[in-house]
Amino acid sequence: MAGNTEPLSPRAKLAVTAGKAAAAVSRAAGRGSGSVIGGRVALRLDPDLLARLARHLDVVLVSATNGKTTTTRLIAEALRASGPVVSNALGANMPAGITSALAGGSDAKYGVIEVDEKYLAGVARDVTPKAIALLNLSRDQLDRAAETRMLAEKWREGLSGSKALIIANADDPLIVWAASGSANVVWVAAGQEWKDDAWSCPSCGGVMQRPGEDWFCGECGFRRPTPSWALSGDHVLDPHGSAWPIKLQLPGRANKANATTSAAVAAAFGVPPQVALERMFSVQAVAGRYDVVTFQQRELRLLLAKNPAGWLETFSLIDPPPTPVIMSVNARGADGTDTSWLWDVDYTRLAGHPIYVLGDRKLDLAVRLEVAGLDFRVCDSLDEAVQLAPPGRIEVIANYTAFQDLRRRVGN
Ligand SMILES: [Zn+2]
Repeated sequence: MAGNTEPLSPRAKLAVTAGKAAAAVSRAAGRGSGSVIGGRVALRLDPDLLARLARHLDVVLVSATNGKTTTTRLIAEALRASGPVVSNALGANMPAGITSALAGGSDAKYGVIEVDEKYLAGVARDVTPKAIALLNLSRDQLDRAAETRMLAEKWREGLSGSKALIIANADDPLIVWAASGSANVVWVAAGQEWKDDAWSCPSCGGVMQRPGEDWFCGECGFRRPTPSWALSGDHVLDPHGSAWPIKLQLPGRANKANATTSAAVAAAFGVPPQVALERMFSVQAVAGRYDVVTFQQRELRLLLAKNPAGWLETFSLIDPPPTPVIMSVNARGADGTDTSWLWDVDYTRLAGHPIYVLGDRKLDLAVRLEVAGLDFRVCDSLDEAVQLAPPGRIEVIANYTAFQDLRRRVGN
């Protein structure tokens, strides 16, 4: 469906070149890949650059609180069955990072783009996507349920005029509210483990009823739509009722849900579920998440959990006791400086695991674990925790900057 193939204007070309130069300078100065600074410079020279770069692509946008980086990778792999793909695979998901990623993909047929939740409506306006995948919405670090609700409202308004096919999780009431203002929606039963942000109706504020897997509002009739795709155990059920096995190297139920949504997106572009799911097997670690590394002759699996819903999903995928668990929590800028979210997470699920706590806010975590009645050790460093842990692979769970610290320590 690649429509307009006219070459970039001289101004847009200049913006791309300047952006690449800025990125190269930033790299040389040791400031990472430079993709964000490059995109920022390019957008300043040509504010319409994102729209222009996207014009010759079939664009898929992916947004959510959790799982958007992984799902973007899975969709990109699936669509490669049908043509070259450009993607912001490293997770730079605001307009500058997206611009920079697209500037590197002039030969691509598809653009598969992860978008930060706050920027979704704006990016969707700029790039006129063919499809938008919406996975879940929950509070980020703090108790910001009201903010989550406002975000759902903003998505609903922003997407209501879009011609894009929306592929949305029928099990998350906030996602359903955000998507149901759109004309074309494919509903996916992808599940929802974290329910704390969806007990009141996003439409009228009434109390949500949740019998079994179903949900509905007793006041206004807002209810779970009938899904045409579903995650069922280890299989994807397609709209014809056929079951396709999910084979992933990525662990956990949440990633099976991501694969289900990705299969539905791929089908919208003519890639059959069997082909899509086979290709998804090649996705291993995503930006270091789920990576198994060797450190001090021990195997460590690195798991990122950025918010309460993420911690809950992570507890459901770790190996059973007596597998040792190391947890590290920081509260720097990207983490949110308030650790009150620790009280939203049910840590009793870790009962039976030997537990070691680290990070800037290890004492906050220790208080939380104490109240949950768990045995644990407070450690000064990853090295100390690993030395204390009994034999076997160690699960290491950390929030955002703590995860970056750990990756640096293990040299990954
Ligand atoms: Zn209602």
